[in-house]
Amino acid sequence: MSPTSSRSSRRPVFVLVGGTGDLAVRMLWPSLAMLDQDGFLDDQLRVISVARQQLDHKAFVKMVSDAINGRVGKDLEAGTLERFLKRISHVSLDASNDQWGPGLKAELGDLSQLEVTYFLSVSPSLFKPICEHLAAAGLNAEPNRVIIEKPIGRDLASSKVINDSVAHAFDETRTFRIDHYLGKETVQNLIALRFGNIIFEPLWNAQAIDHIQITVAETVGVGERLGYYDEYGALRDMLQNHLLQLVCLTAMEPPSGLSSDALRNEKVKVLKSLKPIDAATVHSHTARGQYGPGFAEGEKVAGYEAEKGSPSNTETYVAVKAEIANWRWAGTPFYLRTGKCLPSRATEIMIQFKPVPHSIFGGEAQPNRLVIRLQPDEDIKLTLMNKAPGLTAEGMHLQALDLSLSLAAVFDANGEKPPRRRIAYERLILDALGGNNAQFVRRDEVEAAWEWVDGIIEGWQKTGMKPQIYQAGTFGPLSAYTLLDRDGRSWND
Ligand code: NAD
Repeated sequence: MSPTSSRSSRRPVFVLVGGTGDLAVRMLWPSLAMLDQDGFLDDQLRVISVARQQLDHKAFVKMVSDAINGRVGKDLEAGTLERFLKRISHVSLDASNDQWGPGLKAELGDLSQLEVTYFLSVSPSLFKPICEHLAAAGLNAEPNRVIIEKPIGRDLASSKVINDSVAHAFDETRTFRIDHYLGKETVQNLIALRFGNIIFEPLWNAQAIDHIQITVAETVGVGERLGYYDEYGALRDMLQNHLLQLVCLTAMEPPSGLSSDALRNEKVKVLKSLKPIDAATVHSHTARGQYGPGFAEGEKVAGYEAEKGSPSNTETYVAVKAEIANWRWAGTPFYLRTGKCLPSRATEIMIQFKPVPHSIFGGEAQPNRLVIRLQPDEDIKLTLMNKAPGLTAEGMHLQALDLSLSLAAVFDANGEKPPRRRIAYERLILDALGGNNAQFVRRDEVEAAWEWVDGIIEGWQKTGMKPQIYQAGTFGPLSAYTLLDRDGRSWND
């Protein structure tokens, strides 16, 4: 079914501002083409690229075709590309020029017949001028909406400036803030797992869960993003958004439904319940690291400062002991970590349950563990205790066995081809075109997350806490291990 046809009789238009940029090429054009292939795009949908670059139609079509072939070429069916290319056009406009709004207006045509979704895939410094141009040219009226990308600021104050400038043109219900983790299949599966099964929810609390670990490990260094990254670091770039969104989905109370407000009201309560970390607790609750010389992905790495060519106080690794001050989670810490140049690429949530209250098996009964893997493969594993098979003279022995919910393995066992692994942006673009913002981040979520993160940054500044160097290709700085050692726990490496 077409996502927009049932909502409005207006013709849908997707305006990709920054259509020649890196995000558009790697993610957005391929996502749009795949949505088209699977019949999710309205027959009438037009896609207009807007960017500074002067491109004639032939060069533009080549750029988009290369982007699609490069990312999803092997999944393309006959006819998809040709059909998709008929929808697209490019207009060259510079956002620093007042002609931007009138230029786009001329390209769009009669606005009263259109429902326009603007995707601002440009630097956040352009959000304000672009929203002003849209408002001045009358392109922001209902039902038109806007999608914006991270980073929404580098602290609470700057995020408010960005949010205010967007709010000037689009009200909150028409503002779609992307955290692409929310478009990932396994992240959505977390909601299904928690609230579609009765067996977990009664145990999903501090009485049964010892602690939770959330890891986003990258093998790559900062590469070409050094200029941007040096201003942000791991805490602002990854933890403030992606990891805290995973904390919200793991920790939130059951929402009353799947509506955007029901979900986001519960998420924001989690963020507001995070116990502040400040100068007094920053040493016991956080670890900062920066990769030094070593090896990553089989290649020699010179180290972050050597790559930058000057000293830097930016962390490429951060670990935090987060505590949620509410009835469900008091006493159960969430250990969060993310870093670059680590030995393996993995994103996972590990729920460590407590031991049984009285073990009749001596030390053999290990506590249950639920590991939800998001990357590189999507998999859910529940470790259960099982009787080791066979006879022994001294009686029963236990062994830990995994109950695995690997979708790939299930399809493999049935001799079926698993469904294509979708780009997270496919889900998000589809939802935005349909006006559903449940999987987008609300303003109060962004600001509550920044408020908590600002406390950590201020604590680092006040105490002069510098990143500790770790060898590229290892699991991070020693202080990250001490963080858990202190509590008698260890990372699930
Ligand atoms: P980019 O620099 O590769 O592309 C920027 C685009 O903006 C280009 O199309 C360029 O023509 C256009 N542009 C720049 N200045 C302009 C001006 N004055 N007038 C009109 N157009 C102008 O950027 P990107 O990496 O694609 O990132 C886009 C957005 O997505 C940013 O907000 C970024 O923070 C965010 N983001 C990107 C990635 C990624 O992987 N690239 C990941 C997460 C978030």
